[in-house]
Amino acid sequence: MAIPMSGDKAAIRNWTRAQSRLGRQAARPVMIFGLLSSLAGVGQAWCIASLLGHALMGLDDTAQTVTSFPLWPIGGFAVLALTRAACMMASDTAAAKAGIAARGRLRQHALNAILVGGPALLRRVQSGALATTAVDRIEALDGFFARWLPASVLWIAAPLCILIAVCSVSPQAALILGLCGLTVPFCQALFGIGAAVASRNQFLAMTRLQARFLDRVKGIATIVLAGRTEDETQRLASAAEELRIRTMKVLRVAFLSSASIDCAMAVALIVLAILTGKHALALTTHATPLLLEATLTHGLFVLLVVPEFFAPLRSLALAYQDKAHAQGTATAMLDLPTAPEKAEVEAARTVSASGVMITLDTVSFTWDPARGPALENVSFAVPAGETLILAGSSGSGKSTIIELLLGFITPESGKILLNGAPLETIVPDALARMISWIGQKPVLFAGTVRENILFAAPHADEESLQAAIKASAVEEFLPLLPHGLETQIGEGGFGLSGGQAQRIAIARAYLKNAPILLLDEPTAHLDPATEKSVFESLQRLAVKKTVVLATHSAAAHIFHGRRIDLQHGRVVARQGAAALT
Ligand code: ADP
Ligand code: MG
Repeated sequence: MAIPMSGDKAAIRNWTRAQSRLGRQAARPVMIFGLLSSLAGVGQAWCIASLLGHALMGLDDTAQTVTSFPLWPIGGFAVLALTRAACMMASDTAAAKAGIAARGRLRQHALNAILVGGPALLRRVQSGALATTAVDRIEALDGFFARWLPASVLWIAAPLCILIAVCSVSPQAALILGLCGLTVPFCQALFGIGAAVASRNQFLAMTRLQARFLDRVKGIATIVLAGRTEDETQRLASAAEELRIRTMKVLRVAFLSSASIDCAMAVALIVLAILTGKHALALTTHATPLLLEATLTHGLFVLLVVPEFFAPLRSLALAYQDKAHAQGTATAMLDLPTAPEKAEVEAARTVSASGVMITLDTVSFTWDPARGPALENVSFAVPAGETLILAGSSGSGKSTIIELLLGFITPESGKILLNGAPLETIVPDALARMISWIGQKPVLFAGTVRENILFAAPHADEESLQAAIKASAVEEFLPLLPHGLETQIGEGGFGLSGGQAQRIAIARAYLKNAPILLLDEPTAHLDPATEKSVFESLQRLAVKKTVVLATHSAAAHIFHGRRIDLQHGRVVARQGAAALT
């Protein structure tokens, strides 16, 4: 599957603009301290220039140098150096804070979007790409908020202040400096446009490589057994090569744009040095020593302040890549689903927690219009405390019904009611509290068995935990684990069999004790003996709950209740009281 791309330029621009607006507030201290630091640099240049000017004059007249060597430039320089260090520290701290705040906000947004999208999102977007968006891409935005936003203001403000200072001593020098400075934005525009595109492409190539790598690692067994190792290695290698080429392009562009600043700075220095030298030479013959010293000091000041003048421009060039990254991230962020706003306005309802009746009224749903509807006019009712078995071969729409009930997707037409209340009007939190869900493959997080069971009910007491362990038959395999309840499982932990993992999921659902239980082929990967015992545990769990069990296993007959058979998204047969609706 391709990397998500909603290449809508206007949308990307709007997103970047909105982020700039949000981030500028936090970046203000960075700008203020950055400006103060530049001004302190100008002050320092003046101190050194005064000192040098005086010293150079003193070369002619040693006696004078010793007697009236001025102390204020030395003191001034020291004080300004301290001020500058403090400003820089404050600016760096503020930048880090701005970056952290912005990344926190964006991660929250991405996480919400992933939660809203639910499992349906994972069918559409590679999980590798999703992980890259939530982790790496947002991390890379640090520079946008911490460096680009302040730099985008400072590159005008700081040089302008410096120009005013230079103008007060020599308007001619200010003009030269200003003209040299003006060439920089032109060169930047020239190379910067290339940088934005190159940097975006580089980021895309990186995402592609990461997503491909994660995906292939997951499917390593399939790849080896299919004899596709060579092919896949080749493909990974070419994705890596693409990344290398794009990275070199970015570096080349960055080098060119930084070289253009160096050029402008060198030209400014040479012209100003010649000017100062000429000026001083012209004066040596007839001017008073005082005037000569002032001219020398001014000339030196102008020369010393040149690097200070170009520094903000250089920061802007360096931060330009950060802006390009932000545009790359915008593409990925815009591709995430947004929470349905309607739900927030209307979702004011909760449903009585004990005993929930589920009703589907002529519900239709289409995933992909090209492939026709996944569900067509499906209707059924499950009274509180009863069980409905959804039978049907693979692809008949069972999981789609479960996802509709979970609220991750909304029906195209028809209604889903819980105790008579439309599903979409129920507060999402309340809905989450009402439903326990067990899928084909339980999700185990890296942690102990205890932590995994307590996941949905972290504050449950020891007594309920033991009851859940017993009812879910986790206790049967606990003695086999090296540290019992405290055994580390999940990623990088002790491996559990499918049946054992499923029992942990059942224990979790026990503790949560929600009135609705949605089971999506919970025994799909289990052998018949394990399947039977898992079904028995599930049966104990199902007591007094409204259950929708999607399965095509014959062993599910131990669940008494209604049953509907699906075929290509249509109900083709009903048994039990399900025939009523
Ligand atoms: P079951 O769970 O009964 O095996 P599903 O509900 O998963 O069936 O799928 C029903 C139909 O919808 C299938 O044809 C399937 O290919 C399609 N489908 C399911 N999820 C998606 C999706 N995210 N995008 C496109 N089509 C989908
Ligand atoms: Mg399914």
